[in-house]
Amino acid sequence: MPISLSDTLHNKTGTWRTFRPIHKNKLPPCNKKCPTGENIQKYIYLLLNKKYEEAYREIKKDNPIPSITGRVCPHPCESKCNRGEFDEPIAIHHIERFLGDYGLELKDNWEIEEKKEKIAIIGSGPAGLACAYHLRKKGYKIKIFEAENEIGGMLRIGIPDYRLPKDILDKEIKKLQEMGIEIETGVRINHPLDLAGNYDAIFVGTGAHISRKMGIPGEELDGVISGLEFLKKLNLGEKVKIGKKVAVIGGGNTAIDAARCALRLGAEVKILYRRSRNEMPAIESEVEEAEKEGIKIEFLTTPVKIIGKNQKVSTLECIRMELGEPDESGRRRPIPIKGSEFTLDFDTVILAIGEKVDLKLFENIETTSWGVKTDQYTRTTHEKVFAGGDCVTGPSTVVEALGAGKRASIAIDCFLKGEPLPVIKDKKPVTIENINLDYFERKKRKEPEKIEFNRRVNSFDEIWLRFDEKDLLEEAERCFSCGVCNRCDNCWVFCPDLSIIRNEEYSVNYDYCKGCGICARECPRYVITMEEER
Ligand SMILES: Cc1cc2nc3c(=O)[nH]c(=O)nc-3n(C[C@H](O)[C@H](O)[C@H](O)COP(=O)(O)OP(=O)(O)OC[C@H]3O[C@@H](n4cnc5c(N)ncnc54)[C@H](O)[C@@H]3O)c2cc1C
Repeated sequence: MPISLSDTLHNKTGTWRTFRPIHKNKLPPCNKKCPTGENIQKYIYLLLNKKYEEAYREIKKDNPIPSITGRVCPHPCESKCNRGEFDEPIAIHHIERFLGDYGLELKDNWEIEEKKEKIAIIGSGPAGLACAYHLRKKGYKIKIFEAENEIGGMLRIGIPDYRLPKDILDKEIKKLQEMGIEIETGVRINHPLDLAGNYDAIFVGTGAHISRKMGIPGEELDGVISGLEFLKKLNLGEKVKIGKKVAVIGGGNTAIDAARCALRLGAEVKILYRRSRNEMPAIESEVEEAEKEGIKIEFLTTPVKIIGKNQKVSTLECIRMELGEPDESGRRRPIPIKGSEFTLDFDTVILAIGEKVDLKLFENIETTSWGVKTDQYTRTTHEKVFAGGDCVTGPSTVVEALGAGKRASIAIDCFLKGEPLPVIKDKKPVTIENINLDYFERKKRKEPEKIEFNRRVNSFDEIWLRFDEKDLLEEAERCFSCGVCNRCDNCWVFCPDLSIIRNEEYSVNYDYCKGCGICARECPRYVITMEEER
């Protein structure tokens, strides 16, 4: 924080102290919170100066698929945006989507210095794609092995078109292939070490694809389907049979998307979730959107039996729950309330109570109870095998998988060069208390439009439209640029002894500076700090 003139001159013991202003950029909270380490402040600054291509290339340093994260990322960056404590967080993901889409039309002319080492990647989801991308940029020869006939993992088979149209995914994948990344589909690898003879390192990004069963009577009846299977069929363009009254069991992304797809196929849909809204693992905004579309959610409710007529689902016997102490996941444990059983009629039951990792793939490599065991740099207990994404964490998010793929690329590069890993430093980000709020006006967050409601619930058309340029720039203008100079000139304007020099970095002529601290106090974004001269 800025200091007063008296602080500048004396400390408590009366000895003379001299403080000098230092211009030094700090860490914005959005940048810190992004698992891929995107320099969000920087691309917003470039965009404000209408340098769209440069802004796009700035995102691409860390994120291989910005038009996808701009659509589906739950944007942890926004949850830490200092603007959120002032009025509303910056709509970072809509800005990212604009730039990602802008970049889809550009050619990425990579100048790659080829290396001789070959790396195998198992799985073409976001973790595998990110690892491939960052290693390819470093010049390694990359081959991805994918079990499905289509590329993209959950981006392809899980997330429906109304949130992520397939042509966007195809364009991003094409860009990666144009870098020279080879992808072979329809090949299921049985064990990572099966590839050890032909490759110098192996990255495993196989996700979590085994649907959990409920273990209740009636699960085998006609009309019971797993959420992931339902979504996969729909997303791959297969015909899916669905009834008129659909129950979806679960509270994660699979449950919400399965419910919204069933609604779009014309069914009346109800979600049954055994905990309360606070414990739902699905992305909060997607739950809200589902409810707006007319999907009802029965909280604290779980089925105990699926009852059939002629081998076909007809009724669900359910029980009400109450919440007890937290379980190993940290969420409060649901406990059935004795005698609260009741029945509801449905003709289809979609079970979406979560996905597990297929641990068979990791024989002789250490695992945890939910996935593969790795350190924070994705190294497994076998020196040649690295792993990241859902197969390590259990079901998580696209951006976490992208971050893991990026860390793996650093670890694999160091492994192949025989170099030590860089130390991950935990830097403190700029907080709202550091910002001089006198320089900012309260302004409502801008968001793009959505498509018209009737079209939305009756089709799989993408819901969100893209920012138009005017709104985009107005939204970007709201950014505090926490801790990073955006050349507002305040330090230069307010300096009473004309000691600030307006060059590229804003330096200080210390021959004139009296250390009054006014420049630090009037810097809106905490770039200048007064540091004691020694
Ligand atoms: C319905 C649904 C909606 C979601 N919505 C969102 C969202 O909006 N936002 C968000 O951030 N996250 C969302 N998620 C989560 C997100 O999709 C995942 O966290 C992310 O895709 C994990 O990436 P991954 O690369 O680890 O695994 P995956 O995306 O699962 O990819 C793994 C790939 O490995 C392949 N594979 C598996 N085994 C083998 C083998 N033996 N040999 C070869 N290939 C193999 C699989 O076929 C698959 O293609 C959603 C998930 C689901 C299911």
